[in-house]
Amino acid sequence: MGEVRILPPEVRSLIAAGEVVERPANVVKELVENALDAEARKIEIETLGAGKKLIKVRDNGRGILKEDLPKVIEEGATSKIGGVEDLYSIGSYGFRGEALHSIAKVSKLTIRSRHFSEGRGGELYAVGGEVKRISEIAHPVGTTVSVEELFFNLPARLKFLKSNRTERKAITETVVAYALAKPDVAFYLEQEGKVVLDLKPAVRDERIVEIFNLDYTPDHSVAETDIGSAEIFYYSNYRSNKFFVFLNGRPIYNKEIQTYLRNKLGYRTLAVLFLEIPPYLVDVNVHPRKEEVKFLRERKVLELIGNLFGKKQRTPSAVDILKSSLKVEYETEPSLEFEILGQIEETLIVAYRKGFVYFFDQHLLDEVAKFDLHGDETKACKSSLKAGQKLSKEEMEALLKRWEELGEPRTCPHGRPLYYKLPVEEIFKKLDRRW
Ligand code: ADP
Ligand code: MG
Repeated sequence: MGEVRILPPEVRSLIAAGEVVERPANVVKELVENALDAEARKIEIETLGAGKKLIKVRDNGRGILKEDLPKVIEEGATSKIGGVEDLYSIGSYGFRGEALHSIAKVSKLTIRSRHFSEGRGGELYAVGGEVKRISEIAHPVGTTVSVEELFFNLPARLKFLKSNRTERKAITETVVAYALAKPDVAFYLEQEGKVVLDLKPAVRDERIVEIFNLDYTPDHSVAETDIGSAEIFYYSNYRSNKFFVFLNGRPIYNKEIQTYLRNKLGYRTLAVLFLEIPPYLVDVNVHPRKEEVKFLRERKVLELIGNLFGKKQRTPSAVDILKSSLKVEYETEPSLEFEILGQIEETLIVAYRKGFVYFFDQHLLDEVAKFDLHGDETKACKSSLKAGQKLSKEEMEALLKRWEELGEPRTCPHGRPLYYKLPVEEIFKKLDRRW
């Protein structure tokens, strides 16, 4: 007898289900997507035991017809028309009817729902994918899905999970991503009985401010080219760098975009980027759960994103190089938008522009200018103007002008922030004065 044997179909389908659903956060993602596809205006998520004990998602969407209830956990059951090419379409999140089937296979699943056209609701209870009970119940219009004891029949998968803290964090990040994608939908997340998010319907920038508890509204920019459109919200002076990218409303990950944003915005920026690009320009075969995305015309996509930041980086001319030392006078033009307010401890340049007071590190400011000219980190750093040097107003203006011309970088070549900015509005608030 040979050594190869064929696994029985039940085992194979269990393995397949464990591949669609690898961790609790994947379940949350699928259930939230379904709620959004059902046009819910409010989605409440509750988890216990980092999602291993319970994941409960309740929505006020259109609900499931009683007669459809037993069908929804069958393989390939979907009410959403589409094919694989629809993956990145703007229509719906669901496309192949495998989520509920897979979740049912590896958990104890209860679906309670009432369709908007029906007077009573229905309840389905299944263990390991096998329907144990279907009954009529009272339920408001909408759907409540409870997933208990995830992976109870796949112990190997349970062992593979990370710490509860990490799994909880992944759940929060998943909900945050969809809350960013759909600011007009209310989201509520409770983990181990504690409220993590409670978000009222809002517009994009309000939602960002609320989720990340920002002091002021992020910067905003839009761009459009022949391949699509982009909108970005970014907030510097954040405690770390965090970039969220959405493609046609879906959270995605793309390494090139991440790198691009980090180089452009620095290491202390929170940015939320929305791309609308035709689905046929997206390579759909990269990631089975469609999280990592490749673009067929990547340069074009990066160019579109680049347009969000306006001014192009200028290549220095011979004249620039001659002017590169601060000892040489910079010429200043009256077009500088900054109003120089002064210098603090011969280290910081303080300036005002459009509702913000900026504090620049004069050493770093000079360093980026030099770096741009020489393209050499160590040389730039050594020859830079050090802190502790008194500057004239003209010198400060020249430095800021140069910084503007460089496209207003946020960090020096080593990743240190160049400046800190404070909204004047905040200062007025602190002084109890209306702005
Ligand atoms: P897909 O989303 O790809 O269609 P799923 O397995 O996630 O596949 O869901 C199967 C079907 O169950 C959906 O097409 C939809 O008809 C129904 N369904 C699932 N969740 C909900 C919900 N929260 N509200 C209304 N219908 C739902
Ligand atoms: Mg789905």
